[in-house]
Amino acid sequence: DDTGRILGDLTENGDMLVIAKGGRGGRGNARFATPKNRAPGYAEKGEPGQERWITLELKLLADVGLIGFPSVGKSSLLSVVSQAKPKIADYHFTTLAPNLGVVFIGEGQSFVLADIPGLIEGAHEGQGLGHEFLRHIERTRLLIHVIDISGQEGRDPIRDFEIINKELLNYKVDLSDRPQIIALNKMDLPGAEENKKIFEAYIEKEGIESKVFSISAATKQGVEELMKTAFYELQKIPMPRINVEEDTTLYTMEEEAPAFTIREEDGVYYVEGDRIKKLTQMTYLDNEDALRHFHQILTKMGVIDALREAGIGEGDDVVIDDVEFQFFDDLSY
Ligand code: GDP
Ligand code: MG
Repeated sequence: DDTGRILGDLTENGDMLVIAKGGRGGRGNARFATPKNRAPGYAEKGEPGQERWITLELKLLADVGLIGFPSVGKSSLLSVVSQAKPKIADYHFTTLAPNLGVVFIGEGQSFVLADIPGLIEGAHEGQGLGHEFLRHIERTRLLIHVIDISGQEGRDPIRDFEIINKELLNYKVDLSDRPQIIALNKMDLPGAEENKKIFEAYIEKEGIESKVFSISAATKQGVEELMKTAFYELQKIPMPRINVEEDTTLYTMEEEAPAFTIREEDGVYYVEGDRIKKLTQMTYLDNEDALRHFHQILTKMGVIDALREAGIGEGDDVVIDDVEFQFFDDLSY
């Protein structure tokens, strides 16, 4: 969460990813046996597991996304091509969740269509919701750009089209090259035919390669052909993959901080740091044998030398994690 690194991207059913490892089990006392000491009185506790804060992001796994201005007929279209029951004429987008529907084309041929509300609704009302919804589009392979071609209520179809495309371009992941099919909706309304001609001239002039369909969600005119084309286009487009950072190995506590640091306060020496803490947690300190073993480890890690350097004296208190002991320089073993 604090690095913003992407650890993985689970896209297939059954995909798994280790995001934090459990600790290695502690070694039993037999593992520490030596010819001199066949039954040492110490063993190791299990290592604490890794801990980290993770942000999980659920994304829609829709094949095709419906995009367009509010009220152009996205929800209506979804409702006539699938069993989904999205709210129609839902100006205030009370439901912020995208609607999904399965579109059946024929035997064994179907795709998932998502009606993504709030795409522009939020953005243009300054609520910043636009991008929140755009992330749902990231995973769609094909977009159906729905346009109200009737130009009702002073709507300018070409301007609408350009504004939406600009949103796609400005998103953190460039969505502007995601394949689009343009659906000129509300062809049943007066004025549509005329606007359609203007729009088609514009597409031609701009050299836009998207296929253009004239439809009416109300009369279902052209809808079947649009869906069939979407299905066939989909077969040519591979699943987009999110760029997972190459190094997906976990960063370990060791990388994050030095093994230990020493801080002196009122004559007490505090040995701090993730690694030394972990080590202390893994160590039984309930008998002399175990304490001696712990002392050896501290020596090996350089803690004892560091304490001396910090000016520790005989009998001074040392605190490591929640263990407290007195420092005696000459332990004779
Ligand atoms: P959305 O905001 O894009 O999801 O738009 P809706 O599907 O909620 O539709 C907005 C309004 O347009 C509703 O009143 C619909 O009944 C109407 N509408 C949608 N498609 C058509 C169409 O093809 N013809 C006509 N005449 N009205 C339509
Ligand atoms: Mg809607």
